[in-house]
Amino acid sequence: MKKDIPYKIYLDETELPQSWLNLRAFMKQKPAPLLNPDTLQPVTKEELSHVFCEELVDQELDETSKFIPIPDEVRNFYKMYRPSPLVRAYCLEKALGTPAHIYYKFEGNNTSGSHKLNSAIAQAYYAKKQGLKGVTTETGAGQWGTALSMACSYFGLDCKVFMVKVSYEQKPFRREVMRTYGADVTPSPSTTTAIGRKILEEFPGTNGSLGCAISEAVEAATSREGYRYVLGSVLNQVLLHQSVIGLETKTALEKYDVTPDIIIGCAGGGSNLGGLIAPFMADQLEGKANYRFIAVEPASCPSLTRGKYAYDFCDTGRVCPLAKMYTLGSSFIPSPNHAGGLRYHGMTTTLSELHAQGLLEARAVEQTKVFEAAEYFARVEGILPAPESSHAIRAAIDEALKCKESGEKKTIVFGLTGTGYFDMMSYEKFHDGKMSDYIPTDEDLQVSLSKLPKV
Ligand SMILES: *Cc1c(COP(=O)(O)O)cnc(C)c1O
Repeated sequence: MKKDIPYKIYLDETELPQSWLNLRAFMKQKPAPLLNPDTLQPVTKEELSHVFCEELVDQELDETSKFIPIPDEVRNFYKMYRPSPLVRAYCLEKALGTPAHIYYKFEGNNTSGSHKLNSAIAQAYYAKKQGLKGVTTETGAGQWGTALSMACSYFGLDCKVFMVKVSYEQKPFRREVMRTYGADVTPSPSTTTAIGRKILEEFPGTNGSLGCAISEAVEAATSREGYRYVLGSVLNQVLLHQSVIGLETKTALEKYDVTPDIIIGCAGGGSNLGGLIAPFMADQLEGKANYRFIAVEPASCPSLTRGKYAYDFCDTGRVCPLAKMYTLGSSFIPSPNHAGGLRYHGMTTTLSELHAQGLLEARAVEQTKVFEAAEYFARVEGILPAPESSHAIRAAIDEALKCKESGEKKTIVFGLTGTGYFDMMSYEKFHDGKMSDYIPTDEDLQVSLSKLPKV
């Protein structure tokens, strides 16, 4: 007999995963390697070690180890806020009148307010272990910077954050949370780096973008002794750390013999989605299961749905290696939409390759539709969702409504990556009817796509 499913499926500490799952190791056709932009040869460990911590470079380049043990120090930190709950959205199902069963994995139960802490703590740990003084990074909406600040203060590391200017101005509270944890926060583009000065000259008055903040952070790390750069999404190592989300989700569902039909996540650089789907996709690649996976992105920054699958720079400053991914071009600067964490021009190589192989669907949604879903969700499920997460809510509701029409009783699981307390200016625009749905034209996209590097 099937057990009754509680509103929240909690795991206990002992059920926290012992290892991360490295999805690439399960893929027959691997993502294309990162290339050195000067030689166009695959980047070496030596080259990457100038920018990143050594053990993280090993993880970045490892495409054969299926599982990588989580160090005890990281696991102990995880225990402060994990395992995170998997919630059965009974109230949402009832409000929608759908026969579908809906679950969401909630990653907003920590001060940083999002899943980003899962990788921040791992990256800070390896930096400390290597004896570094500090790390530099970029942050868009501020979630990553907040998470990294928390992680750095825990391990006693210095933390320099370049924050996309539009967010720095729109989200002063985020900035102060970071400073509370001891981080040094600079709006990007800034005059503190050569690349920042160059971008400001070329695009005076720019709102900034994740890409240009990355370039500044890389420069700040490589020009300082004892510093390395760390990144909150896009890279393989970040997907690896985020697999803790999917592993817990799978354990929780298995406790109640639940098999999902559809797994949905929002996709900025692709780390939460890559982490959520990791163990499920691994089973699928081994022929043990058959799921539908859906990546949801903003219509204003549609890398998977309208980008090109090509080698491109990971950053506007063109200092990082080249990655083969669905991209809008590294010079693409999206309109200042209200999901800062999804304003990235590309998509992590693993998800790009899975999409190219037809294993991962993608859809783009408009932001007013996203906020409608966010508000609806807040009213019925109680949680105030982040705009980024609300992209997944939108798609989950749409799938549940399709089930209502067809009468199908599908099981839908989605990632609720974080809370929206720092996004109230965006909610305000929505409530006042002042939110617009800017969608770039093909001509707009062509401008940045035409500047893709020739590989
Ligand atoms: C950063 C962020 C995202 C998007 O990043 P991914 O790397 O694509 O996961 C989604 N939701 C929240 C709340 C975020 O902070």
